Amino acid sequence: MKAKNYKQRVIDNRLLHPETLMMGYGYSPALSEGALKPPIFLTSTFVFETAQQGKDLFDITSGRREVRAGEEAGLVYSRFNNPNFEILEDRIAVWDDAERGAVFSSGMAAIATTLLTFLKPGDVVMHSRPLYGGTETLIRNTLSTLGIASVGFTNGISAAHVEAATEQALQLGSVGMIFVETPANPTSGLIDLKLMAATADAIAARQVRRPLVAVDNTLLGPMFQQPLHHGVDLALYSLTKYAGGHSDLIAGGVTGSAANIRKIVQTRGAIGTQLDPNSCWMLLRSLETLQIRAERACANARRLAEYLRGHHSIARVDYLGFLADDDPRKAVFERQSTAPGSTFSFDIEGGEREAFAFLDKLSVCKLAVSLGGTETLICHPASTTHSGVPKELREEIGLSDALIRISVGIENPDDLIADLDQALR
Ligand SMILES: *Cc1c(COP(=O)(O)O)cnc(C)c1O
Repeated sequence: MKAKNYKQRVIDNRLLHPETLMMGYGYSPALSEGALKPPIFLTSTFVFETAQQGKDLFDITSGRREVRAGEEAGLVYSRFNNPNFEILEDRIAVWDDAERGAVFSSGMAAIATTLLTFLKPGDVVMHSRPLYGGTETLIRNTLSTLGIASVGFTNGISAAHVEAATEQALQLGSVGMIFVETPANPTSGLIDLKLMAATADAIAARQVRRPLVAVDNTLLGPMFQQPLHHGVDLALYSLTKYAGGHSDLIAGGVTGSAANIRKIVQTRGAIGTQLDPNSCWMLLRSLETLQIRAERACANARRLAEYLRGHHSIARVDYLGFLADDDPRKAVFERQSTAPGSTFSFDIEGGEREAFAFLDKLSVCKLAVSLGGTETLICHPASTTHSGVPKELREEIGLSDALIRISVGIENPDDLIADLDQALR
């Protein structure tokens, strides 16, 4: 069997869509006995044909030199490379239209490896608030002990607010990275990505280097938001969520330029935060259905948001599909996102007591943290995912005791509404 071009993205001048490429891109059946689907390469190490080949592959893998014309990169050791994760990395890069992607043992491993690659003692990381709890803890408790300071800002749309944070950051040291999460979870706060890129440019005029702009794109990406098209340098993911999509694995990813990803991959090899072959294989399977899962979940979420908005026991629904014309988030949302996704929040009339009573009566919707799975998950952030956030910040960002977050799955939407309805009654 002859190896065909297994990285073909164009037919008749037509650029193939990610959902088409997910079925085979980056994998050559000829290299695996003709198997239609990639086997799981459960091997820690790879055999060299000659000692010289071992030397060459180590030079390439360790980044000491680039692959020469006519030469093929090869596999060395599964902490550095493995067929399953190389195929997966090619495919996550396709979704973001990125030069390169890298995968990790969790979303936090992707975030931690990225931050450790680009930040050093004396640096400052500017970041949006709220961040995912794990990221906030990493920055505040771990990076601070390495001499890396941080400055948070809550309004990522107001240029004046971000400028004030920039001045504060420049007082503390050299700004190494601007790290944001948009939409913010669970409050749907939006960060203007163009403003972040402009802020990085403005900082570059005042210090030696330009800080990288990194976005945690877990909530809308990669289907409904492609940050690299908006001046952002790195898009990060908890692949555990929508990409994995079945609540049965933990994984993370990052996409960006080949030069930046290469640096991150070197750190990953040094500290061992790569993803195992079995989880890579499961993700390859998940990515084949990502588009239809995301579309269905998004359509279901709209139905549920509309139902909740009309219910007398619901005080407020914070759903990106309902942004009013005078809401400053609206223009930003329309510029950088193509759909509101399927995770949103709402306030029940009352407080914690009413929220708990409602949650305890649900049956189809499962009471659990996490999001982006085929099943609908619902939780009370103030007492769980965001219980570590100081009360003043919770109040500032509108995260009350009455707030409930829902991640809508792909069940029949009428069944989901019936479940909400009986619990609200
Ligand atoms: C879940 C999540 C993470 C962390 O990902 P893990 O895969 O659990 O390590 C980071 N950011 C966001 C927005 C998340 O939802």
